[in-house]
Amino acid sequence: MLIVNMKRILFIDRDGTLIEESADEKIDSFEKLKFLPDVLQQLSRIASNSDYLLVMVTNQDGLGTPNFPEHTFRPVHDYILQELKNKGIEFSAVHIDTTFPHQKAITRKPGTGMLTEYLERSYDIKHSYVIGDRITDVELAKNLGCKAIFIDHGQSLGVNETTLKLEDASLYIALRTSNWKEIADFLLLQ
Ligand SMILES: [Mg+2]
Repeated sequence: MLIVNMKRILFIDRDGTLIEESADEKIDSFEKLKFLPDVLQQLSRIASNSDYLLVMVTNQDGLGTPNFPEHTFRPVHDYILQELKNKGIEFSAVHIDTTFPHQKAITRKPGTGMLTEYLERSYDIKHSYVIGDRITDVELAKNLGCKAIFIDHGQSLGVNETTLKLEDASLYIALRTSNWKEIADFLLLQ
């Protein structure tokens, strides 16, 4: 019998999860770039001690419009990916939705429109995780059929874009923390 090794995935948000969110929700200059404490070290631990596939999933509202031109986003974004790579952290894919909330696009988190390939192919979705700092990231986990690691900055972000009731969100949250070492410790025990 052929044993298929089904890959588990970490669907990782960018802003507020890997790097700090800016007040205007646009990281369009290097001055605004700051990694979350410990994230490089701990994600590196995860990458070198597990076989999770790393997939970045990020909403970048209005990217490519005059208010948020691609050329202000791309250098910082590429730098982030390079910094991660330098620490042995390689994303197999980066999915960026550029729509605004009011457009209600199926590709925008919590929608799974950009991620259907992971549902159709033989990935171990049930044992995969979304790591993010908004309730919409938790709802994405629900929609994908996996669990969430909720990075809680204590701000209830994303509540205006979710149909998930806060009291129901805990059903989909495997770990709630603001500490990347706790995330790595948790994931390396799974
Ligand atoms: Mg975020």
